[in-house]
Amino acid sequence: MKTENSKNIIIVGGGPAGMMAAIELSKTHKVSLFEKGKTLGRKFLVAGKGGFNLSNSLIDKELSSKYTPNYLFTNILKSFDSKATVTWLEELGIPTYVGSSGRIFPEKGIKPIEVLNALKQRMIKQNVSIYLEHEMIDFNKSSITFNNKTSKFSKEFDTCIFALGGASWSITGSDGLWTHLMQKNNIKTSTFEPSNCGIIVNYNNKPIAQHIGTPLKNIRITFQDKIVKGEAVISTYGLEGNAIYPLANAIGTLLKKGQTTISIDLKPFNTEKELISKLTSTTQPKNYGYVYNLNKAQIALIKSFTDKETYINPIRFVKALKRLAIPIEGLRPIEEAISTTGGVPLEELNADLSLKKIPNIFIAGEMFDWDTITGGFLLQGCFATGYFVAKHIN
Ligand SMILES: Cc1cc2nc3c(=O)[nH]c(=O)nc-3n(C[C@H](O)[C@H](O)[C@H](O)COP(=O)(O)OP(=O)(O)OC[C@H]3O[C@@H](n4cnc5c(N)ncnc54)[C@H](O)[C@@H]3O)c2cc1C
Repeated sequence: MKTENSKNIIIVGGGPAGMMAAIELSKTHKVSLFEKGKTLGRKFLVAGKGGFNLSNSLIDKELSSKYTPNYLFTNILKSFDSKATVTWLEELGIPTYVGSSGRIFPEKGIKPIEVLNALKQRMIKQNVSIYLEHEMIDFNKSSITFNNKTSKFSKEFDTCIFALGGASWSITGSDGLWTHLMQKNNIKTSTFEPSNCGIIVNYNNKPIAQHIGTPLKNIRITFQDKIVKGEAVISTYGLEGNAIYPLANAIGTLLKKGQTTISIDLKPFNTEKELISKLTSTTQPKNYGYVYNLNKAQIALIKSFTDKETYINPIRFVKALKRLAIPIEGLRPIEEAISTTGGVPLEELNADLSLKKIPNIFIAGEMFDWDTITGGFLLQGCFATGYFVAKHIN
């Protein structure tokens, strides 16, 4: 219910974080949502073209452990966790179900555009004023300047939320071009880095080049102190998939200092000792596939990244099965990344996600420096930060 104490709130950025904040705040305040694109939620719809994991069924510490920085998200997710997302979507008329991997999807038959429309309808019902094709081109502590193609104008606010997104898939509007506006206001920004993206591996003249498109299932990848289980797909440029994406950001950091490698365990359910015990005096390279239940792509991968000696020596072959070192040449371009880190650094933010230098401006969604993995955690993080800032403004 709007009262005399209702504030005049501006939200800039019509992605999931901005829309969540608009829905929560318009229950009690006058909210205007500005989006530079022709439509809202373009990246949300891109997510819909893939798996469209709206959240993940993990809760409590298991959920927050997937986020960096962990201390901050432990607090944020206490206000709005994956159960809250499910209830919230249900109230918006979007029932969900939990897939076998723990990912939360809209119920079968519900299209991504219908989920987006449910958010839009709720905003319209709660009298959110939505301004499309309005780009924020400047701001200060009390007003924002917009360009709506025909004119420039400034709008005053009591409180404002920026939910401008990260810096990948720029076609969706998440282009990170807003950083200079922060710098103009003496707010530092950190360089955007790709996260959740593929890695580049040189397959030139290697047997593995014959297996593009083949998934390496049930593998375990180790990089520094990080261990990820899952699947990696052999792609034209290298490797992608849920066992690769969580490592991308850390790999990128190390690549800046020089070349680096990941270690793949193709048989994570067997110890090296167990695998060696399967060898007999008659085991030869031609039997490896049979003895260890390996497909052609797995054998080609080992051949591609070991020397001949390793391949013909069964003990050395087993060691390679457990610890195959793959040199990484680079990360795929940031433009292709599912998410990015960087943007507004934590040092510029108060604990309630307001800017230290302009505390009546709050930041939500992918535009500040946090990271998580794929599987619904990104949207959960965006919804939760949108809700968290709304709660603090309320
Ligand atoms: C291919 C792909 C698949 C994905 N799949 C999933 C998935 O299945 N599950 C999941 O959890 N996550 C997924 N994601 C990630 C998820 O879509 C993003 O994390 C999420 O959309 C970020 O939300 P946001 O509100 O922070 O920003 P965005 O959705 O990026 O929205 C920011 C908005 O701000 C607007 N904006 C920017 N600058 C200005 C300005 N100056 N003035 C006005 N408006 C401006 C932009 O136009 C944009 O609409 C996927 C991402 C990609 C690329």
